[in-house]
Amino acid sequence: MTNKTKPRIIVVGGGAAGLMAAGTAAKAGARVLLLEKMKQPGRKLAITGKGRCNLTNSAEISDCIAHFGNNGRFLRQAFHRFFNHDLIDFFADNGLKTVTERGGRVFPANGKAPEVVKTLRNWLNKNGVTIRLSSPVEELIVEDDQIVGVVAAGEEFSATAVILATGGASYPLTGSTGDGYRLAINIGHNIIPTRPALVPLTCTPPEHSSSEKPGSEK
Ligand SMILES: Cc1cc2nc3c(=O)[nH]c(=O)nc-3n(C[C@H](O)[C@H](O)[C@H](O)COP(=O)(O)OP(=O)(O)OC[C@H]3O[C@@H](n4cnc5c(N)ncnc54)[C@H](O)[C@@H]3O)c2cc1C
Repeated sequence: MTNKTKPRIIVVGGGAAGLMAAGTAAKAGARVLLLEKMKQPGRKLAITGKGRCNLTNSAEISDCIAHFGNNGRFLRQAFHRFFNHDLIDFFADNGLKTVTERGGRVFPANGKAPEVVKTLRNWLNKNGVTIRLSSPVEELIVEDDQIVGVVAAGEEFSATAVILATGGASYPLTGSTGDGYRLAINIGHNIIPTRPALVPLTCTPPEHSSSEKPGSEK
């Protein structure tokens, strides 16, 4: 297949999901264009795990699924296709060693979350993904009930398939401002109302400052 006749996949959003999706599609033989609205991809990924990036957990599939309660079944198929050991091997193959710590938490051995982003970016480059930064997708183009492209920063891009990987709405400074919900609604998808999870709690007056150790006397 010549480059022109290969299917063209557009990935919207260069976070953890978008980077993996783009590289995987390119490795499978597609022409891939990744459109990221920030100046850099993986902004959130680079600050995860207090800057160390808790990549995965070494627990068994059944254990992981059990932690998701009734929704866990949804993950079974995906986990059977790509699980924690696949991710660890993937990063090892691409030059990023990992360590497993207390509670089965897996981190990059060098303790640097930005290195995870760098490793993924190198992998995308190796597989020929085109990355356009500062390119916010504003619209998904649908013709005859079929997605045919997107509009980003006023420019039209055609595609055989579009992967929406814009993240949720947490930590907007990193780029995830809920655009994906609006883009999906605009082409007729239903969105289940979102709720925050894993949020910090604040109280007034602040009873405990962060410098106080639990159990320390006043
Ligand atoms: C402080 C913090 C610490 C965390 N620590 C961990 C951890 O240690 N381990 C862990 O597993 N998870 C952690 N998480 C959760 C993890 O970061 C998210 O689950 C993960 O980043 C989600 O990936 P994503 O690709 O879906 O979304 P995101 O990483 O949010 O990426 C979405 C991307 O889409 C881009 N985008 C948005 N709208 C558009 C648009 N219109 N056009 C183009 N691009 C667009 C954004 O700029 C962004 O780059 C943490 C989260 C936070 C906030």
